[in-house]
Order: sequence, then C-alpha cells, then structure tokens
Amino acid sequence: MIPFLDLKSINEHYRNELITACTDVIDSGWYINGQQLSAFEKEFSEYCGSKYCIGVANGLDALTLTLRAWKELGKVKEGDEVIVPANTYIATVLAITENNLTPILVEPDKATYNLCPKKTEQAITTKTRVILPVHLYGKLADMPAIIDIAERHQLLVLEDAAQAHGAGLNGRKAGNWGDAAGFSFYPGKNLGALGDAGAITTDDEDLIKILRALGNYGSHIKYHNVYQGVNSRLDEIQAAMLRVKLRYLDDEIVARRKIAHAYLTGIKNPLIHLPEINSESALSDKSHVWHLFVIRNTQREALQSHLLENDIQTLIHYPIPIHEQQAYRHWSKPSFPITESIHKEVISLPISPVTKSNDIEEIIKTCDLFNKEANA
Ligand SMILES: *Cc1c(COP(=O)(O)O)cnc(C)c1O
Repeated sequence: MIPFLDLKSINEHYRNELITACTDVIDSGWYINGQQLSAFEKEFSEYCGSKYCIGVANGLDALTLTLRAWKELGKVKEGDEVIVPANTYIATVLAITENNLTPILVEPDKATYNLCPKKTEQAITTKTRVILPVHLYGKLADMPAIIDIAERHQLLVLEDAAQAHGAGLNGRKAGNWGDAAGFSFYPGKNLGALGDAGAITTDDEDLIKILRALGNYGSHIKYHNVYQGVNSRLDEIQAAMLRVKLRYLDDEIVARRKIAHAYLTGIKNPLIHLPEINSESALSDKSHVWHLFVIRNTQREALQSHLLENDIQTLIHYPIPIHEQQAYRHWSKPSFPITESIHKEVISLPISPVTKSNDIEEIIKTCDLFNKEANA
C-alpha cells in the first residue's frame, strides 16, 4: 500500500538529532517555558520574517487567543463580524465562535480554493472587524488584494497559516502579511511536532504582551491575574523537536514541490482537475508549499475506490462543509454552492518529503487509467 502519509518515515530521517534534542531537555530538568521555547520562538519569527512569535498549545489556540487578545485590546467586541472562507478546516471557524464573534462565510475562488477578494469586499458591513484568510492546502491566499481591502476598510487581518509554513510571495512569507497569524505544528503539518503545538507571529508588541499573559492564566507576573486567561503553552520537548525540524523545512518544501511538479506534468486524464499554480512550474511557485495535493473529480468516490484497489491511499479534505456540520445546525440554512461542490469533488493524493518517486509514477499511471478501465 502506498500510504497517504508516513510520519514514522518522515521523523526517522531526523531520528538521531531528535533523540539528542530530547535527551538535552530531559537532562535540563526544565520542561515548560524555558530556553528551547524562547530559541524556537526567535528562530521561527526569523524564518517567517515577523518581529515576534509566541508558542501556544496548538493551532486552534493560536487563532482563538489572537481574537481574544484583540477583544481585550478593545479592537474587536462580541458580536462583531469576521470574514472567513466557507471551505476551511473547522478550527478556523471554531476560533471565531468561541469568542462570541460572528463568522461571515464567503465562497472561495474555485480555481485557488482560497478567499475570493471580490466576494470578501462585498461581504463587508459596519460590523466587520477582521478578515481571516486561510492559506488552504499550503497555497498563500491572495494577500496583496486582501491587505489592500483591509487597509481601505480599516480591518484587522488574521492569517490562518496552519497549512502554509514557508509559503511566500515577493519575498514575504505566510505569517508576515496580516496583523497576526496562527500556525499549527500538529504532527501531520509541513512543520510538525511529535505532539500538539502551535504559534502566533506578529509585529505588534502590544498584542504579543497580552498573548503572553492570556496563555499563562491571564498573568504577566506569577499570582497576579489581569485577565481570565487559559493555559496554552508549547512544551520544551516539542520546541526542541521543532527546532530540529525547522532546519530542514526548506528542503522538505523543495521535495514537496518536486512531487507536485511530477503530478502536474504527469497526470493527463482530462477527467481529473489539477490544482493551479502561480508560475510556469510548481518548482518555481514560491506561493505554494503543497501541504496537500488536491485534485477534483465529479466521480470522487469511484476515483478513490479505483486508487485504493491499486493500493493507493487517499484522503478527503474535507468531506463536510462547516455550514452543514451538526455543531452549527442552529445557523439558518445557508447555501454555498461553490463550497459544496468542492467538498463533493476533492480528493488528496499522497505528497510528503518521503513519498518515493516510483510510487509517484504509479499514482500518476493509476490516475490516468481511471475511467478508461471503467469504460473498457
Ligand atoms: C490544522 C489546522 C488548524 C488547527 O491546528 P491544530 O494544531 O490541530 O489545533 C487550523 N486551521 C487549519 C487550516 C488547519 O489545517
């Protein structure tokens, strides 16, 4: 079976360095808020090009706490509207509703899967305070257009960069476009810890100060609690793991781009809709880091079975749109036809720094046989 994602093989690559880093933390006797975390925060903010970075427990907390901090700073208040793409992972929207803010779902651009600037502008009301673009599947959203809209309407921008570590445009990386950005280091993400972890990047010193307190029981000074905070921290062990893996992130992105290039130039089946790229080739498109390689087909279930019969594991990102989730059943039956058709047609092919080139060839061949065989 060609696995969709083999985390064991990915981490095996760095096994010795990870074990050394882990041993250092064990022997240090310091497991929370120590040198590993501050070193990682510095290294990751430098990588993204942002002034500050703060580690938190996971990607959902990164988004939730940023919106919460803006409320504490008086920039956003309960009931305000946050514009967000209708097709994203549910965490993006959970961060909004957790803060008693109102998510305004906007249909994506069907070619890029990302927030459509034109529809974003049309969705703005007097209650809009934040635009929350998601760099879905690893492709940077149209940030120049989104920043332009935000500036003209005096809105905050929070990037959901959970899938896009290292994606950039004109030398400016994800995490360095908006007023703040949330990252996830869930093990399967392009920069993955060996457990849960997340971070926020920003250039805003006031925001970072308040975030430090919010994630630490609302306290700047021990036992002096200014806010009703939470406990959301990035452990020393995970920070040490991430420091090792950050050094190889750019190499892994290159490996992912090579696979994307092979798929894009290899798959010829006209029934399969391939993802779009911003330059001549996936190799030179810096705006995409290929967290996922997502194709579309109107007979998605048949294609997935065909691949599985040929020992190729695939996944669906995502099978149920957020507005159809039970969690949001109290919403008044909204309809998002583009989002709904995306959710019905998408299927993700294996892509990772350890996916073997003969497996990629096998996947391409099998994709091209789809429906030829069915009709034979
Ligand atoms: C993974 C992910 C998150 C949440 O990250 P966790 O670390 O799992 O909490 C948020 N948004 C998007 C787009 C994601 O892919």
